[in-house]
Amino acid sequence: MADTTLTLCVFIDAFGWRILERHEFLGDLLPVRGPVETIFGYSSTCDPTILTGKLPRDHGHFSFFYYSPATSPFRALRPLGLLPEAVAGRARVRRVLSRLLAGRLGYTGYFQLYSVPFWALPQFDYSEKRDLYQPGGINGGCTTIMDDLRRMGVPHYCSDWRLPEPDNLASLRARIDQGGLRFAYLYLASMDGVLHAHGTQSALVSRKIAEYDRELRAVIAQAQARHERVRVFVFSDHGMADVTATCDLQARMRSTGLRFGKDYVAMYDSTMARFWFLTEGARAATERALEAEPQGRILSDADLARFGCDFPGRKYGEIFFVADSGVLICPSFMGLRPIPGMHGYVPDHPDSTAMFATNAEDVAPPARLDGIYPIMRAEVGA
Ligand SMILES: [Zn+2]
Repeated sequence: MADTTLTLCVFIDAFGWRILERHEFLGDLLPVRGPVETIFGYSSTCDPTILTGKLPRDHGHFSFFYYSPATSPFRALRPLGLLPEAVAGRARVRRVLSRLLAGRLGYTGYFQLYSVPFWALPQFDYSEKRDLYQPGGINGGCTTIMDDLRRMGVPHYCSDWRLPEPDNLASLRARIDQGGLRFAYLYLASMDGVLHAHGTQSALVSRKIAEYDRELRAVIAQAQARHERVRVFVFSDHGMADVTATCDLQARMRSTGLRFGKDYVAMYDSTMARFWFLTEGARAATERALEAEPQGRILSDADLARFGCDFPGRKYGEIFFVADSGVLICPSFMGLRPIPGMHGYVPDHPDSTAMFATNAEDVAPPARLDGIYPIMRAEVGA
């Protein structure tokens, strides 16, 4: 057997600790397991933290959109604001347009317009313009585990996040068969969609976990046939909450009489809203309106510092409102209709918690998401 150790990292989007606790999943193969506190934000925040070991304020990634009219790549889209909502809001129209736009702007990262209204888009710039997994992908200039592997010349495999899961599983297995592999990073993201569409209690979620169990068993067995040691690390970025209520924050803001784009600008994500103020008094009026909303709260500066979301220049918002776990801001700029599952609530809520499981008896599950990078780094000799 020529090959010695293979480190196999498997990222499973939205596979929360609570969901893992309710299912049988590689229990015999990966006995060392535990909860991992997530990072405040969505996958666009969590994934850079996994790859770099840095908090959001340091890697510079948070939600996709931030207020910056001077640098907005979306100014040319302003005329589309005149389209009737039935056309402009259609998911397929937006998907096609997102693809065309990403091509024209030369973006290599994950790019989606979601449901951001065309009249609002020219206020915003986009944070994930580059592919996180390629050199120079991180806004803050930090190195990722992929950068480390490239620099150290470690023979490695990394999934292409643009491809469907079966393709990534097949390409990993083909690469293992070639031999000489030392480190692999498998990216599995489709359970996130199942959880959003059906909630955490659906039989489809259990079926998806059983499918992952089966597929990963086969990959591990194949790797073990070739390598003396296969060290497996399976982890997620965050959990998922079942949506139990919605909150119409935009209606609440309209009732203040403040004008979007004149007095203030807001980005309504699915679970949080972020505000920037343009006129005197707009901040106080906004705070009064948000404090009257019973299903969430304004995060204090101490909260943001604790979450590592105290961004230089308050780039991602002067104030952040976060909905209570299970409450969906709806309609938002991310979606117009309610869906059964959502994440992106405060990280210390149990439904937000991510998971970590391994067969490496010498490794303890990290307390928080930024602890995964040091573990991967140590695998290839830090
Ligand atoms: Zn998601």
